[in-house]
This record gives sequence, C-alpha cells and structure tokens, in this order.
Amino acid sequence: MNCPDQTRANDRADPGLDVRPDLGTDVHPGLSPMPDDDFRRVLCIVAHPDDVEYGTSCAVARWVAQGAEVAYLLLTAGEAGMQIPPWQAGPLRAGEQRAACDAVGVKDLTILDHPDGTLVYGLDIRRDIARAIRQFRPDVVVTTAWEVEPPWGLNQADHRVAGLCVVDGVRDADNPWVFPELAHDEGLPKWGVRWLLVSGVSSPTHFVDVTGEPLQRGIASLAAHSAYLAAIPGHPAPEDFVAGLTRAAGQAAGVSNAVLFRAWELGPPRTPDA
Ligand SMILES: [Zn+2]
Repeated sequence: MNCPDQTRANDRADPGLDVRPDLGTDVHPGLSPMPDDDFRRVLCIVAHPDDVEYGTSCAVARWVAQGAEVAYLLLTAGEAGMQIPPWQAGPLRAGEQRAACDAVGVKDLTILDHPDGTLVYGLDIRRDIARAIRQFRPDVVVTTAWEVEPPWGLNQADHRVAGLCVVDGVRDADNPWVFPELAHDEGLPKWGVRWLLVSGVSSPTHFVDVTGEPLQRGIASLAAHSAYLAAIPGHPAPEDFVAGLTRAAGQAAGVSNAVLFRAWELGPPRTPDA
C-alpha cells in the first residue's frame, strides 16, 4: 500500500519514499477481526507491481493457507517506476511480481498495459476491472486507498485512480446494463462481490491476524522485488519494514501482527458455484 512508485523515479532524493511503519494506528477502538474463514476467491486489484506487498500479501498468505484462491490484477507493469528505461523496467518488475506471488501461493497474475504513472480515471479501466471480476468471480475484492493523504503519507496518483476505479468497477461488474458488451460479446454475466477491502486507509474497520507464517511469507513477497528495492536509496529491509508495520497494526488490533482494512460488505454470502 505504501508503494513509493514514481516519487523516486522523478527524484531519487524525494522524501515521497515515506515508509513509516506506523500506519496511523494510534487509536482504532472499533477494529473487528475480519470474518475470513469462508473467503473462497479473492481478487487483489492494484496499480503497480509491489502494491500488494506492503502488508496485504501477509493477509493473502493467510487466506491461501485457509484454502482460498487468490488472484492479482495489476493495471500497469510499473514500467515508469525505476531509473532504467520502461522497456527494461516493465519485464523486470513483472518477473519480480511473479516471484512475489509465488512467495504467498498466488498462481493467477494478470498485468494489464495501462500506462504507469499516468493512469487516468475512465471507463476503459472500469471495464477492464469489471471484466476481471466477472471472469474470476471473487467473493472478495481488495484494493488500495484512494485518499490523497492516507495515514502513511501523500498518496500516489495511480493509486488514487486505481482505488476509485475498483470501487466503481465492483459495481459495474454486478450491473448488466453497464458494459453490456461483456455479456453479449464475451459471455461474461454479471457478478456480485460480497466484500470490498481497502488497505492503507485512515479509518480501518477490520484486522487480519498475520502472526507467524503469513508474516514470514509476506516478508518474502516484498523481498522478491529485489532489483526494484535495491534501486531505492534508503528503503528499509523488507523484514524490518513489513514486521514493523504489521506489529504497529497488531498493537491496534490486540494481536502480535496484523494487517488493517476498511471493509464493506456489499452483498450476502455467495460462492462461485452458487
Ligand atoms: Zn504503487
């Protein structure tokens, strides 16, 4: 959630690499454990490679261990996120994302070719998201905060666009009169998501306990972005960063290590076979 994309590509000394592991966990008295025992299919939709790996992937590891199938949809390849040319950075980062997925047991990775750094809110992205939801038929969609000032710093432009497009794409996926061509031309009927989870927000509602193996797998998933992280001056070691942020969240949740989400229950329980 705390992906430093672009900020350091434009200015390596930019304090936009704001990797405070405090996550604004000062007081969240209403935090509830995420009722994730029956999560069956989870689709994480983010802007860039590494966006899932700042905490959320620990929760992914837990869900996979519980038997859920998890897929990632990245809107861009993150090709503008390094000091090397995009045609080199894109494939490199895609490969590192593949390794990050392997670390937490995610087989299904799709990377779209929207332009990194210049995502624009629009129907094309919403349609792509609705298509992915109708194809994968998740009961849970996870995305990143669209706030301008989330608790960890100034948000990045693509993250804001991605989050808003996901909110609307979730609704589009369940509306047969929006993007009707998805059904008519591609054979994809509408699909309603039960849960929408957003990471890195100012006002989380739920926590996922990631103590133990999920935390370790999550750390490994961030470490998989090795070339990317090595090119960011001053980036903390993945084990320090992920352990720190989940420990801070855990303090707010009353467990050793946690990941926090704002969760909306949009519909009744439903499985892909229902
Ligand atoms: Zn990012």
